Amino acid sequence: MRWYTSNELRIGLHKKGKFVHRRFWLHDVPRLMLWCRLRGHRPVVDGHGPIAKGLHAARWVVCDRCGVRPDPQGNLDPEQWDIGQPYDGPWTPLTRDLAASAWTELLGLTQRPVHRDDARKPGRWPDKPTGTLGAELVLGKTFGVFSAEVTIGCAGDEHPISCHLRLWPFGALYLHTEAFGAWLQRRLIPDGYYSRVINISVDEWTIRWQWWAREDEWAREDPWWMHGRISLDLVEKLFGPKRYSYETVNGPTLGLVHMPDGDSHQVQLVLQRRRYGRPRRKRAAWSWVVKWTANSPGIETRPGKSGILSSAVEVPADTVQTGAWATLACGLIAHKLTADRIRNGYRPATTGQAE
Ligand SMILES: [Zn+2]
Repeated sequence: MRWYTSNELRIGLHKKGKFVHRRFWLHDVPRLMLWCRLRGHRPVVDGHGPIAKGLHAARWVVCDRCGVRPDPQGNLDPEQWDIGQPYDGPWTPLTRDLAASAWTELLGLTQRPVHRDDARKPGRWPDKPTGTLGAELVLGKTFGVFSAEVTIGCAGDEHPISCHLRLWPFGALYLHTEAFGAWLQRRLIPDGYYSRVINISVDEWTIRWQWWAREDEWAREDPWWMHGRISLDLVEKLFGPKRYSYETVNGPTLGLVHMPDGDSHQVQLVLQRRRYGRPRRKRAAWSWVVKWTANSPGIETRPGKSGILSSAVEVPADTVQTGAWATLACGLIAHKLTADRIRNGYRPATTGQAE
Protein backbone atom coordinates (compact mmCIF):
# COMPACT_ATOMS: atom_id res chain seq x y z
CA MET A 1 0.00 0.00 0.00
CA ARG A 2 1.23 3.46 -0.85
CA TRP A 3 -0.01 6.70 0.63
CA TYR A 4 0.02 10.02 -1.16
CA THR A 5 -1.36 13.44 -0.31
CA SER A 6 -1.24 16.90 -1.83
CA ASN A 7 -2.00 20.28 -0.36
CA GLU A 8 -4.23 22.10 -2.83
CA LEU A 9 -4.10 25.32 -0.84
CA ARG A 10 -0.45 25.73 -1.74
CA ILE A 11 -1.01 25.29 -5.47
CA GLY A 12 -4.69 26.04 -5.86
CA LEU A 13 -6.21 29.22 -7.12
CA HIS A 14 -9.52 29.10 -5.26
CA LYS A 15 -8.38 29.26 -1.68
CA LYS A 16 -10.53 32.11 -0.46
CA GLY A 17 -12.41 31.15 2.70
CA LYS A 18 -10.77 27.70 2.89
CA PHE A 19 -8.41 26.62 5.58
CA VAL A 20 -7.92 23.00 4.52
CA HIS A 21 -7.93 21.66 0.98
CA ARG A 22 -6.17 18.35 0.60
CA ARG A 23 -6.28 15.36 -1.69
CA PHE A 24 -5.42 11.87 -0.49
CA TRP A 25 -4.73 8.66 -2.31
CA LEU A 26 -4.22 5.19 -0.97
CA HIS A 27 -2.72 3.12 -3.78
CA ASP A 28 -2.27 -0.65 -4.13
CA VAL A 29 -4.93 -1.52 -1.61
CA PRO A 30 -5.52 -5.29 -1.78
CA ARG A 31 -8.94 -6.23 -3.02
CA LEU A 32 -10.57 -8.90 -0.93
CA MET A 33 -13.07 -10.41 -3.40
CA LEU A 34 -13.88 -13.09 -0.85
CA TRP A 35 -16.48 -14.80 -2.94
CA CYS A 36 -14.22 -15.01 -5.99
CA ARG A 37 -11.35 -16.33 -3.87
CA LEU A 38 -13.59 -19.14 -2.64
CA ARG A 39 -15.46 -19.93 -5.80
CA GLY A 40 -13.14 -18.66 -8.51
CA HIS A 41 -13.89 -15.84 -10.92
CA ARG A 42 -16.86 -15.92 -13.22
CA PRO A 43 -15.65 -14.85 -16.67
CA VAL A 44 -18.01 -12.97 -18.96
CA VAL A 45 -17.49 -11.03 -22.15
CA ASP A 46 -17.27 -7.27 -21.83
CA GLY A 47 -16.54 -4.57 -24.33
CA HIS A 48 -17.96 -1.81 -26.46
CA GLY A 49 -19.42 -1.23 -29.92
CA PRO A 50 -20.12 -1.47 -32.67
CA ILE A 51 -22.58 1.40 -32.74
CA ALA A 52 -23.19 0.59 -36.40
CA LYS A 53 -22.11 -2.25 -38.63
CA GLY A 54 -18.45 -2.15 -39.55
CA LEU A 55 -17.54 0.40 -36.90
CA HIS A 56 -14.92 -0.12 -34.25
CA ALA A 57 -15.75 -2.64 -31.55
CA ALA A 58 -13.81 -4.49 -28.88
CA ARG A 59 -14.41 -7.50 -26.64
CA TRP A 60 -12.48 -8.72 -23.66
CA VAL A 61 -12.96 -10.88 -20.57
CA VAL A 62 -13.90 -9.71 -17.14
CA CYS A 63 -15.05 -11.34 -13.92
CA ASP A 64 -18.76 -10.69 -13.64
CA ARG A 65 -18.57 -10.66 -9.86
CA CYS A 66 -15.55 -8.58 -8.97
CA GLY A 67 -14.76 -6.81 -12.23
CA VAL A 68 -11.14 -8.01 -12.35
CA ARG A 69 -9.76 -8.63 -15.81
CA PRO A 70 -7.29 -11.38 -16.71
CA ASP A 71 -3.88 -10.31 -17.93
CA PRO A 72 -3.86 -10.02 -20.89
CA GLN A 73 -7.55 -9.30 -20.90
CA GLY A 74 -8.12 -10.95 -24.27
CA ASN A 75 -9.02 -9.47 -27.60
CA LEU A 76 -12.06 -11.41 -28.74
CA ASP A 77 -13.81 -11.24 -32.07
CA PRO A 78 -16.82 -8.90 -31.73
CA GLU A 79 -18.59 -10.89 -34.43
CA GLN A 80 -18.53 -14.00 -32.25
CA TRP A 81 -18.87 -12.65 -28.76
CA ASP A 82 -21.69 -10.63 -27.30
CA ILE A 83 -21.30 -8.37 -24.29
CA GLY A 84 -22.52 -10.07 -21.13
CA GLN A 85 -22.17 -13.56 -22.54
CA PRO A 86 -20.38 -16.03 -20.23
CA TYR A 87 -16.90 -16.67 -21.56
CA ASP A 88 -16.29 -20.34 -22.24
CA GLY A 89 -13.64 -19.87 -24.91
CA PRO A 90 -9.96 -20.80 -24.83
CA TRP A 91 -7.40 -19.36 -22.39
CA THR A 92 -3.69 -18.94 -22.79
CA PRO A 93 -2.20 -22.20 -21.42
CA LEU A 94 -0.71 -21.64 -18.00
CA THR A 95 2.73 -22.94 -18.98
CA ARG A 96 3.03 -20.52 -21.90
CA ASP A 97 1.71 -17.71 -19.76
CA LEU A 98 4.29 -18.37 -17.04
CA ALA A 99 7.03 -18.66 -19.65
CA ALA A 100 6.02 -15.33 -21.17
CA SER A 101 6.14 -13.70 -17.73
CA ALA A 102 9.57 -15.17 -17.05
CA TRP A 103 10.98 -13.96 -20.39
CA THR A 104 9.52 -10.51 -19.87
CA GLU A 105 11.22 -10.21 -16.52
CA LEU A 106 14.48 -11.79 -17.53
CA LEU A 107 15.01 -9.66 -20.63
CA GLY A 108 13.37 -6.55 -19.24
CA LEU A 109 10.88 -6.43 -22.10
CA THR A 110 8.32 -3.66 -22.22
CA GLN A 111 5.87 -5.92 -24.03
CA ARG A 112 5.08 -9.50 -23.20
CA PRO A 113 5.88 -11.95 -25.95
CA VAL A 114 2.70 -13.62 -27.18
CA HIS A 115 2.64 -17.05 -28.76
CA ARG A 116 1.04 -17.11 -32.20
CA ASP A 117 -1.76 -19.40 -31.00
CA ASP A 118 -2.61 -17.17 -28.05
CA ALA A 119 -2.98 -13.88 -29.93
CA ARG A 120 -6.55 -13.18 -28.89
CA LYS A 121 -6.88 -15.33 -25.79
CA PRO A 122 -7.20 -14.01 -22.27
CA GLY A 123 -4.38 -14.80 -19.83
CA ARG A 124 -4.21 -15.47 -16.12
CA TRP A 125 -6.28 -13.83 -13.43
CA PRO A 126 -4.10 -11.52 -11.35
CA ASP A 127 -2.93 -13.11 -8.08
CA LYS A 128 -3.17 -10.00 -5.97
CA PRO A 129 -5.48 -7.48 -7.52
CA THR A 130 -5.32 -4.08 -5.95
CA GLY A 131 -7.26 -0.87 -6.15
CA THR A 132 -7.02 2.75 -5.13
CA LEU A 133 -9.06 4.86 -2.76
CA GLY A 134 -9.06 8.62 -3.19
CA ALA A 135 -10.45 11.51 -1.20
CA GLU A 136 -10.55 15.26 -1.31
CA LEU A 137 -11.25 17.27 1.80
CA VAL A 138 -12.17 20.93 1.91
CA LEU A 139 -12.75 22.72 5.19
CA GLY A 140 -14.14 26.18 4.77
CA LYS A 141 -16.27 27.90 2.21
CA THR A 142 -16.98 26.07 -1.00
CA PHE A 143 -19.96 26.97 -3.18
CA GLY A 144 -23.70 26.41 -3.31
CA VAL A 145 -25.50 25.45 -0.12
CA PHE A 146 -25.70 21.67 0.03
CA SER A 147 -25.06 18.72 -2.21
CA ALA A 148 -25.00 14.98 -1.68
CA GLU A 149 -24.15 12.70 -4.58
CA VAL A 150 -23.37 9.11 -5.44
CA THR A 151 -22.13 8.21 -8.90
CA ILE A 152 -21.78 4.70 -10.25
CA GLY A 153 -19.35 4.74 -13.14
CA CYS A 154 -19.90 2.89 -16.39
CA ALA A 155 -17.37 0.23 -17.39
CA GLY A 156 -15.29 2.88 -19.17
CA ASP A 157 -15.19 5.12 -16.11
CA GLU A 158 -12.01 4.84 -14.05
CA HIS A 159 -14.02 5.40 -10.87
CA PRO A 160 -16.60 2.66 -10.25
CA ILE A 161 -17.98 4.56 -7.26
CA SER A 162 -17.64 8.17 -6.35
CA CYS A 163 -19.56 10.29 -3.92
CA HIS A 164 -19.48 13.62 -2.21
CA LEU A 165 -21.04 15.67 0.52
CA ARG A 166 -20.80 19.44 0.43
CA LEU A 167 -22.28 21.83 2.96
CA TRP A 168 -21.67 25.55 2.97
CA PRO A 169 -19.80 27.06 4.83
CA PHE A 170 -18.27 23.98 6.48
CA GLY A 171 -16.66 22.31 3.50
CA ALA A 172 -16.83 19.28 1.31
CA LEU A 173 -15.68 15.67 1.23
CA TYR A 174 -15.22 13.82 -2.06
CA LEU A 175 -14.46 10.10 -2.20
CA HIS A 176 -13.78 7.83 -5.11
CA THR A 177 -12.62 4.32 -5.76
CA GLU A 178 -10.52 2.83 -8.51
CA ALA A 179 -11.29 -0.85 -9.09
CA PHE A 180 -13.16 -1.12 -5.80
CA GLY A 181 -16.90 -1.38 -6.31
CA ALA A 182 -16.59 -3.10 -9.67
CA TRP A 183 -19.07 -5.64 -8.35
CA LEU A 184 -21.70 -2.93 -8.02
CA GLN A 185 -20.76 -1.45 -11.35
CA ARG A 186 -21.22 -4.78 -13.08
CA ARG A 187 -24.57 -5.35 -11.40
CA LEU A 188 -25.98 -1.89 -12.14
CA ILE A 189 -24.35 -0.75 -15.38
CA PRO A 190 -23.08 -3.87 -17.18
CA ASP A 191 -22.96 -2.05 -20.53
CA GLY A 192 -23.30 1.37 -22.07
CA TYR A 193 -21.19 4.46 -21.74
CA TYR A 194 -23.16 6.44 -19.22
CA SER A 195 -22.26 6.74 -15.58
CA ARG A 196 -25.32 7.17 -13.41
CA VAL A 197 -25.84 9.86 -10.83
CA ILE A 198 -28.01 10.14 -7.74
CA ASN A 199 -27.81 13.67 -6.44
CA ILE A 200 -29.69 16.16 -4.35
CA SER A 201 -28.49 19.73 -4.08
CA VAL A 202 -29.61 23.07 -2.76
CA ASP A 203 -28.30 26.22 -4.33
CA GLU A 204 -29.63 29.65 -3.49
CA TRP A 205 -33.37 29.23 -3.86
CA THR A 206 -33.56 25.95 -5.70
CA ILE A 207 -33.58 22.28 -4.77
CA ARG A 208 -32.45 20.02 -7.59
CA TRP A 209 -32.20 16.28 -7.81
CA GLN A 210 -31.12 13.57 -10.18
CA TRP A 211 -32.27 10.02 -9.80
CA TRP A 212 -30.23 7.49 -11.71
CA ALA A 213 -29.63 10.13 -14.36
CA ARG A 214 -26.93 9.82 -17.02
CA GLU A 215 -23.96 11.91 -15.96
CA ASP A 216 -23.87 15.33 -17.64
CA GLU A 217 -26.73 14.33 -19.92
CA TRP A 218 -30.31 15.34 -20.31
CA ALA A 219 -32.78 14.22 -22.94
CA ARG A 220 -36.34 15.15 -23.71
CA GLU A 221 -37.39 11.53 -23.50
CA ASP A 222 -36.14 11.14 -19.93
CA PRO A 223 -38.86 10.14 -17.46
CA TRP A 224 -40.09 12.93 -15.22
CA TRP A 225 -38.56 11.49 -12.05
CA MET A 226 -35.03 11.43 -13.44
CA HIS A 227 -34.35 15.14 -13.06
CA GLY A 228 -36.18 17.54 -10.80
CA ARG A 229 -36.16 21.06 -9.59
CA ILE A 230 -38.18 22.85 -6.92
CA SER A 231 -37.97 26.57 -6.54
CA LEU A 232 -37.87 27.77 -2.96
CA ASP A 233 -38.84 31.17 -4.17
CA LEU A 234 -42.05 31.04 -2.18
CA VAL A 235 -40.74 33.82 0.04
CA GLU A 236 -39.96 35.84 -3.02
CA LYS A 237 -43.37 35.18 -4.51
CA LEU A 238 -45.14 36.13 -1.30
CA PHE A 239 -43.10 39.14 -0.25
CA GLY A 240 -41.39 40.23 -3.43
CA PRO A 241 -37.65 40.30 -4.25
CA LYS A 242 -35.25 42.15 -1.92
CA ARG A 243 -34.50 45.67 -3.08
CA TYR A 244 -33.63 49.18 -1.99
CA SER A 245 -36.30 51.84 -1.54
CA TYR A 246 -35.86 55.45 -0.50
CA GLU A 247 -37.95 57.96 1.36
CA THR A 248 -36.95 61.62 1.44
CA VAL A 249 -36.86 62.93 5.01
CA ASN A 250 -35.06 66.25 4.74
CA GLY A 251 -33.83 68.63 2.05
CA PRO A 252 -32.97 69.71 -0.43
CA THR A 253 -30.48 71.88 1.35
CA LEU A 254 -27.28 73.53 0.14
CA GLY A 255 -23.83 72.38 1.12
CA LEU A 256 -20.25 73.18 0.16
CA VAL A 257 -17.74 70.48 -0.66
CA HIS A 258 -14.15 71.60 -0.03
CA MET A 259 -11.73 69.44 -1.88
CA PRO A 260 -8.18 69.15 -0.42
CA ASP A 261 -6.89 70.17 -3.86
CA GLY A 262 -8.27 73.64 -3.17
CA ASP A 263 -11.44 73.69 -5.29
CA SER A 264 -14.87 74.00 -3.70
CA HIS A 265 -18.25 72.99 -5.09
CA GLN A 266 -21.78 73.85 -4.15
CA VAL A 267 -24.05 70.82 -3.90
CA GLN A 268 -27.70 70.15 -3.18
CA LEU A 269 -28.21 67.62 -0.40
CA VAL A 270 -31.24 65.43 0.21
CA LEU A 271 -31.49 63.23 3.28
CA GLN A 272 -33.18 59.89 2.60
CA ARG A 273 -34.07 56.92 4.66
CA ARG A 274 -33.02 53.81 2.83
CA ARG A 275 -34.77 50.48 3.24
CA TYR A 276 -33.38 47.17 2.02
CA GLY A 277 -35.86 44.31 2.10
CA ARG A 278 -38.85 42.67 0.50
CA PRO A 279 -41.65 45.10 -0.37
CA ARG A 280 -44.41 43.11 1.32
CA ARG A 281 -42.46 42.17 4.41
CA LYS A 282 -41.98 44.21 7.52
CA ARG A 283 -38.44 43.05 8.29
CA ALA A 284 -35.82 45.15 6.55
CA ALA A 285 -32.44 46.80 6.98
CA TRP A 286 -32.64 50.57 7.42
CA SER A 287 -29.94 53.13 6.84
CA TRP A 288 -29.50 56.86 6.15
CA VAL A 289 -28.10 58.20 2.91
CA VAL A 290 -27.50 61.68 1.62
CA LYS A 291 -28.05 62.08 -2.07
CA TRP A 292 -26.05 64.94 -3.55
CA THR A 293 -26.27 66.84 -6.82
CA ALA A 294 -23.62 69.25 -8.08
CA ASN A 295 -24.05 72.01 -10.62
CA SER A 296 -22.79 71.39 -14.15
CA PRO A 297 -20.01 70.53 -15.05
CA GLY A 298 -19.87 68.53 -11.82
CA ILE A 299 -16.87 67.63 -9.69
CA GLU A 300 -14.03 66.30 -11.81
CA THR A 301 -12.12 63.23 -10.66
CA ARG A 302 -10.64 61.92 -13.91
CA PRO A 303 -8.36 63.69 -16.34
CA GLY A 304 -10.13 64.56 -19.58
CA LYS A 305 -13.48 63.28 -18.36
CA SER A 306 -16.57 65.23 -17.34
CA GLY A 307 -17.21 65.69 -13.64
CA ILE A 308 -19.50 63.72 -11.38
CA LEU A 309 -22.92 65.36 -11.14
CA SER A 310 -24.55 63.28 -8.46
CA SER A 311 -24.07 60.35 -6.13
CA ALA A 312 -24.82 59.41 -2.53
CA VAL A 313 -23.01 58.86 0.77
CA GLU A 314 -24.17 56.97 3.83
CA VAL A 315 -24.31 58.81 7.17
CA PRO A 316 -24.76 57.42 10.70
CA ALA A 317 -28.15 57.73 12.42
CA ASP A 318 -26.92 59.98 15.25
CA THR A 319 -25.92 62.71 12.79
CA VAL A 320 -29.53 62.74 11.62
CA GLN A 321 -30.73 63.39 15.18
CA THR A 322 -28.22 66.17 15.84
CA GLY A 323 -28.71 67.72 12.42
CA ALA A 324 -25.02 67.36 11.55
CA TRP A 325 -25.75 65.10 8.60
CA ALA A 326 -25.31 67.83 5.95
CA THR A 327 -21.89 68.90 7.26
CA LEU A 328 -20.75 65.32 7.55
CA ALA A 329 -22.06 64.51 4.07
CA CYS A 330 -19.94 67.29 2.54
CA GLY A 331 -16.87 65.92 4.29
CA LEU A 332 -17.63 62.39 3.13
CA ILE A 333 -18.17 63.53 -0.45
CA ALA A 334 -14.79 65.30 -0.41
CA HIS A 335 -13.17 62.24 1.10
CA LYS A 336 -14.66 59.88 -1.47
CA LEU A 337 -13.91 62.06 -4.49
CA THR A 338 -10.37 62.75 -3.31
CA ALA A 339 -9.74 59.04 -3.14
CA ASP A 340 -11.10 58.78 -6.70
CA ARG A 341 -8.79 61.59 -7.84
CA ILE A 342 -5.72 59.93 -6.34
CA ARG A 343 -6.64 56.61 -7.90
CA ASN A 344 -7.19 58.22 -11.29
CA GLY A 345 -4.12 60.43 -11.08
CA TYR A 346 -6.15 63.62 -11.40
CA ARG A 347 -4.94 67.09 -10.40
CA PRO A 348 -7.39 69.97 -10.93
CA ALA A 349 -6.09 72.79 -13.19
CA THR A 350 -7.73 75.36 -10.90
CA THR A 351 -5.56 74.48 -7.90
CA GLY A 352 -5.18 77.48 -5.64
CA GLN A 353 -7.61 79.58 -7.63
CA ALA A 354 -10.85 78.31 -6.21
CA GLU A 355 -12.77 80.30 -3.66
ZN1 LIG B 1 -14.02 -12.26 -9.57
